[in-house]
Amino acid sequence: MPATERLPSYLDANHLGPWGTYLQQVDRVIPYLGSLGRWAETLKRPKRALIVDVPIELDNGEIAHFEGYRVQHNTSRGPGKGGVRFHQDVTLSEVMALAGWMSIKNAAINVPFGGAKGGIRVDPRGMSRGELERMTRRYTSEIGIIIGPTKDIPAPDVNTNAQTMAWMMDTYSMNEGSTATGVVTGKPIALGGSLGRTESTGRGVFVTACEAAARQGVDLQGARVSIQGFGNVGGTAARLFHEAGARVVAVQDHTGTIHAPGGMDVHELLKHIQSTEGVAGFRGAEAISNSDFWGVETEFLIPAALESQITAANAGDIKARIVVEGANGPTTPAADDILAERGILVVPDVVANAGGVTVSYFEWVQDFSSFFWSEDEINQRLERIMKDAFAAVWQVAGDHKVSMRTAAYIVACTRILQAREVRGLYP
Ligand code: NAD
Repeated sequence: MPATERLPSYLDANHLGPWGTYLQQVDRVIPYLGSLGRWAETLKRPKRALIVDVPIELDNGEIAHFEGYRVQHNTSRGPGKGGVRFHQDVTLSEVMALAGWMSIKNAAINVPFGGAKGGIRVDPRGMSRGELERMTRRYTSEIGIIIGPTKDIPAPDVNTNAQTMAWMMDTYSMNEGSTATGVVTGKPIALGGSLGRTESTGRGVFVTACEAAARQGVDLQGARVSIQGFGNVGGTAARLFHEAGARVVAVQDHTGTIHAPGGMDVHELLKHIQSTEGVAGFRGAEAISNSDFWGVETEFLIPAALESQITAANAGDIKARIVVEGANGPTTPAADDILAERGILVVPDVVANAGGVTVSYFEWVQDFSSFFWSEDEINQRLERIMKDAFAAVWQVAGDHKVSMRTAAYIVACTRILQAREVRGLYP
């Protein structure tokens, strides 16, 4: 009996949701793994998953309980690495998928990390700074038994930032009795953070978009771009496209969707978002419905919000030539097939948004050596790694006549399972 038939439903590839998407993506690559396929089950189970209760006293005196998670999906190639998300939709299954994608990403770009992810099911908007700090510190203390500079290193993700990382680093250090800067990345510069880290994911999205454009004969000058999610990743990518002469023509975030066929002034939009929290009401564009966003004709579509956004229901409407996945897991396997049939190139998340973890790796190395690099050095090294990873995956995709996603999984799963095989099973 194939091993998958014995799996509980939440580990089944047909289980809907992000973890189901991840499992289907892994299943697609097994035929290309040769004898390493024997170890493939390793990729389908998280190594370790921790669920924690996070109780805090709110400013009004009430006690609130939040559910938090930290999942270490795979540590065969190095310590766990992956962000922490604060969002009302966070579930164990979502965090498992995000941790799995981190294992694949870190192996695809060849940084010496395994994959991990964490999160708290909470809507942090509207919480006071004090409430956020208490929640972050209690969560860190609870997961402190499995994280550490050589065990598992968190970083920012949706609704978390450099301040969140500073609180995490401080809490962990207080509990350990010594200052441990290397326990998280994406920290403020004053705490051993790396120059260029905040923009690195968006920068990597832009670099891989340029690589894809060059191979598809798309000229960046005047190219039209639509972006879902205008936070750290989407906002930075938009600014770099704008500065390179492309036109950002449609943007969607949690407040609505805006459209300007001639292109928007991205700097003005970023200012607008700082003062209003979202794109809605921006005067330099007109509002359109959220569903119309997908049909806007562009050269580039950049999903940079949440997972499972491009599905079988809207993939047929998409009129972009290239999809560059800033978000993790934005495209379901069924949508992937529709986009492929329609000749739309998808640069997968595990390559396109790997800039963040690449500069996190630089930050971790700088913290350990207590020697810091210039922003130019960081951006140059980042660009080199992103371009090399793109080229390697492009080559494998051509050799095997598969999508870039399957090619990235072939590269990554081979590296992870080779490490697993030579390490052997303990005991
Ligand atoms: P962020 O919190 O800075 O921004 C998130 C954006 O998504 C916001 O603009 C928000 O309005 C929008 N959004 C939320 N819900 C939405 C909805 N239902 N519809 C449309 N838009 C919605 O987060 P971020 O750090 O930019 O992360 C965005 C994505 O990129 C996530 O998938 C994250 O996992 C991925 N990612 C982030 C990093 C990083 O370094 N921050 C690295 C790799 C991947």
